[in-house]
Amino acid sequence: MKYYYVTHDEKYAQAYYEFEDGAEKKCPKCGKICEFSRIGVYHTRLKGKKQGDFYHAPGCYIGNSKFLEMLVKYNITGYEIKDIVVDGWFDQRDNLIDLDSSDLKEIAILGKCGWYADKDGKEIKRCDKCGIINFSTRKEVKGIKVEEDTWDGSDIFSFSNWLGVMICTERLKEACEKEKIKNIRFIPLEEFTFA
Ligand SMILES: [Zn+2]
Repeated sequence: MKYYYVTHDEKYAQAYYEFEDGAEKKCPKCGKICEFSRIGVYHTRLKGKKQGDFYHAPGCYIGNSKFLEMLVKYNITGYEIKDIVVDGWFDQRDNLIDLDSSDLKEIAILGKCGWYADKDGKEIKRCDKCGIINFSTRKEVKGIKVEEDTWDGSDIFSFSNWLGVMICTERLKEACEKEKIKNIRFIPLEEFTFA
């Protein structure tokens, strides 16, 4: 099975973080944030005139009605749809522009997988309690993989030591290609680097 890191394409409008309220839990061993539960809705702002079907802001993946309909049509699993608040759509000079954001929703990740592993089976230094890997160590990682016995089988999921980051199966990638979804990009996990 092939898996992908999901991101956006720089050529389209970008979604930015405005604010979100939430409760975070810190790992008792390393002190890093190992859990975050949002309270209320995510607030974003969009910048750029070229509309896509998909956007990625820090901590939030966003789709328009075309994207959401595709998820249903292709029986994609592992997500739930949530409302978001768009605090404005701006051009590159920060002038408000009149683009419709009323159909944009959050695609919240429900699917789960255990800790990511090095693609060649090399051991990665990490917290043995929460599995989180230091930024400096991450930069040395060249390609990661899914340990399939820890994966719940969802098309959309995230690693339990890489919070809120969307990973997907070939099925989502193929659906997006067939439907010509704009502003989504897939990086094979074995080629992914943090650098
Ligand atoms: Zn930890």
